[in-house]
Amino acid sequence: MLEVGYLHIDNPIAVISSYNQSASESKAGLRMLDGFDLDDISLNEMESRLDEMLKAGSSGAVGISATCSQDEPLLAAARIASQRLCLMELRLTKIRDAIRLLELIPHLKRTGVTLSVRIRPEDLSDTLLDKLNETEIDIIHLDLRGLNGAGPRVVKKARDKRGPAIMALADVGEFEDAKTLLSMGADVVSLRGVDPEFSDWLSGAMEEYESLSGWCNAPKHICAGGDLRGLAYCCPPVKHCAVLGALKKAGMTPEEFVEKKLRLAKGTPLEKGEGTCFGSLVWCCKISKMCYLRDAVLARMGLPAKEYMALKKKLAEDLLKTT
Ligand code: SF4
Ligand code: SF4
Repeated sequence: MLEVGYLHIDNPIAVISSYNQSASESKAGLRMLDGFDLDDISLNEMESRLDEMLKAGSSGAVGISATCSQDEPLLAAARIASQRLCLMELRLTKIRDAIRLLELIPHLKRTGVTLSVRIRPEDLSDTLLDKLNETEIDIIHLDLRGLNGAGPRVVKKARDKRGPAIMALADVGEFEDAKTLLSMGADVVSLRGVDPEFSDWLSGAMEEYESLSGWCNAPKHICAGGDLRGLAYCCPPVKHCAVLGALKKAGMTPEEFVEKKLRLAKGTPLEKGEGTCFGSLVWCCKISKMCYLRDAVLARMGLPAKEYMALKKKLAEDLLKTT
């Protein structure tokens, strides 16, 4: 479950369909209606399409993607979305000017709407990414279609900036494609033009994965190319390894890292860990890395693997929040 703004997204799959397709049920955590060019489509039509979608009976969150050469229709669309507790997403097709975009965002947010910006990596310079992170947008929606293997790296780069939630629109053909994007830091993976049976299956598989693993978008270890959340599994920085570069990126000295991890683990089950490499589970690896030392401690404590990972998730959030 992802809470972003007023949205509750039950599973990390979003389906995007064209606004002129008939609304249908879906098991996806988020259903988006795409293609509202408000220069051509009236607000009344947008409103009625959105209401049809809301009535289509699924329990997931709902959103619209819109663009316009004028600000006023976008503000009106944001008010409509906000009244219905729906996501409003800006597409940049008619908002090519970064200055206009950055000026528009605060006006839209003043309507109370939960706001996303959909952007292609080639339009997202480091400067624009930094500036977007300084705004109040709730989601950055990276359109990674056609990038083949490069998509996960773009997600990781955005994740490591520690900005808004990340949605990744990609060519996903199987569970592993979605899992890779999630493990690099995406909070939601969005699909466009896919068979509804496939999106329903993937949504169900992700819900099951979350309930078994405790951390659906768990990162990889830092030394395996994971994003900064992977610091939750790192050992104390006692040798020369990738943790040093990650700490530099996170703006922490090795000493601060050790102090923070120990402080955050204090009073939690992660504090314990006699018999593990560093005497505390706070330094221990991801559950998918086989380790009989850690597993013996977990068994002794009666701490299920899922709860161990949920604690690591909280540790990662706090570790990066408090820097
Ligand atoms: S500290 Fe351990 S887990 Fe982290 S990057 Fe180094 S070797 Fe990998
Ligand atoms: S005890 Fe196992 S899980 Fe913990 S740090 Fe050592 S190798 Fe990793």
